[in-house]
Amino acid sequence: MANSVYLLSGANLGDRQRNLERACEMLGSMAGKIEKRSAYYETDAWGVTSQPAFWNQAILLSTPLEPDQLLTVIHQIEQVLGRRRDQRWGARTLDIDILYFGDQVIRTERLSVPHPEIANRRFTLVPLAGIAPGFVHPLLRKTNLELLELCSDPLAVRQLRMDK
Ligand code: AMP
Repeated sequence: MANSVYLLSGANLGDRQRNLERACEMLGSMAGKIEKRSAYYETDAWGVTSQPAFWNQAILLSTPLEPDQLLTVIHQIEQVLGRRRDQRWGARTLDIDILYFGDQVIRTERLSVPHPEIANRRFTLVPLAGIAPGFVHPLLRKTNLELLELCSDPLAVRQLRMDK
């Protein structure tokens, strides 16, 4: 049985568009079927200000994998695309977070789903609300659009126009 999973990919090093494209391709070949992709959005780096802006995209993936298996695939993709793990809030070529795994609630050593920061981050909520405005957060019992309206994160999230 396939699970509907919402992911957020992010990159702020190298060719950010290409890194996000590659991540999506690899998810499609290694983890299931890409059902929806948001636009790309740009946000100034959070936590550390002296680095390039982040690009983010929300993705709806239909996957036969279990949460732990999906996380393992995500780690493989991050590794192939050359993520650096040396600085907690530092620059990274690619990061993929599991936002929602259907309406499952998972709290293990390896995995927290729904992702604990969803409601606090505009760079997550803006792309997510773009593809799933009415999806209800299984713990907070609010839709993504409601969470976005309630979010007090001051960082501006700009939609990128790809018609260059
Ligand atoms: P970070 O460096 O902040 O991207 O954290 C990566 C680690 O967070 C991974 O190795 C996962 O074990 C853990 N993690 C916990 N919850 C999640 C989640 N919902 N999505 C992705 N990684 C998660």
